[in-house]
Amino acid sequence: MSRSRLVVLAGPTAVGKGTVAEEIRRHHPEVWISVSATTRPPRPGEENGVHYWFVSDEEFDAMIERGDLLEWAVVHKTARYGTPRGPVELALASGHPAMLEIDLQGARQVRQNMPEALFVFLKPPSWDELVRRLVGRGTESEAERERRLETAREELAAEREFDVTIVNHEVHAAADELVALMRFGLDQPDDA
Ligand code: 5GP
Repeated sequence: MSRSRLVVLAGPTAVGKGTVAEEIRRHHPEVWISVSATTRPPRPGEENGVHYWFVSDEEFDAMIERGDLLEWAVVHKTARYGTPRGPVELALASGHPAMLEIDLQGARQVRQNMPEALFVFLKPPSWDELVRRLVGRGTESEAERERRLETAREELAAEREFDVTIVNHEVHAAADELVALMRFGLDQPDDA
């Protein structure tokens, strides 16, 4: 597998990982994006099998037990999230560029299992902007927001563990940068 074939996108809460992934899903159908399993309930507009596989705690336990998950983690102390292993292997075997959009704990596990992947850290332009985005999307209660910001502080410090950083000033530009990385790896396009 070439180093750029599997890209792992991680970064702090509310940095816009989901939005960047959505942008790639819409405009770069050649990129296969993993659909995670989660025990959290769907938000309005989220579809089973598209945004996540929404599963019960029992189903998640069974997935772990069967070894179906490439990685999994409890995120924001509330719900479990994991990457189904089979579809990732199929996508890679069929030669598609593939992407995981996961949290930092998950990225560290993938680093253990698949060190050849390219690890990309998505970073906000500033701390104030991160807070603004989290408040702006209005999907969390105040207590939940506080919890996520606490996690985000720790997560920002993890940038140095990654192969490359993309600053998410604007979603189209960040998505284009990511797709270019998948095509050309860390080399410049004219060197590829
Ligand atoms: P949300 O609930 O806002 O959709 O996602 C919460 C967090 O869970 C995000 O930081 C997202 O990257 C992370 N996440 C989503 N899917 C997975 C996964 O399969 N594994 C891990 N470890 N984290 C995930």
